[in-house]
Amino acid sequence: MSGQRPLPMRGLYDDEFWDHVARGEYRMQRCEDCGFIRYPPAPCCPECLSEAAHWDVLSGTGRIVSWTRFHRQYFDDLPAPYVVVSVATTEGPMVIGNLVGAAGLEPMIGAAVELQFETIATPEGELRLPQWTMTKRIPDKTHLQEDKTE
Ligand SMILES: [Zn+2]
Repeated sequence: MSGQRPLPMRGLYDDEFWDHVARGEYRMQRCEDCGFIRYPPAPCCPECLSEAAHWDVLSGTGRIVSWTRFHRQYFDDLPAPYVVVSVATTEGPMVIGNLVGAAGLEPMIGAAVELQFETIATPEGELRLPQWTMTKRIPDKTHLQEDKTE
């Protein structure tokens, strides 16, 4: 166990994404020509190669497609256990984050999640991170147990 949790790695085109996050806005590049939302940020659209894009506000909703629970503490400021989820956002891009909130340790594949900004302290000051909280546990299978006594 050592020190501070790793901070987001920033590539050539990531700064604007993190600037929006710092303002509490979850924005991604939307292609001006075909509407495709690209993530991670890139200089051109992977679908149509257009360079034209604007930073569109996303809904901040999605579903869990995969998760893992960490039981070992690797960093002083990230106590175990904690859950990391892969989320398919409603708009399409897949993102990785922590599952936070009341049900943060009991993830379920397919569960609806909602964006929640978490502010952490870093040596350079506060940093806002996009995280996820479950809003509804699905799949709800109660509808499959119909009365078959007729
Ligand atoms: Zn495009």
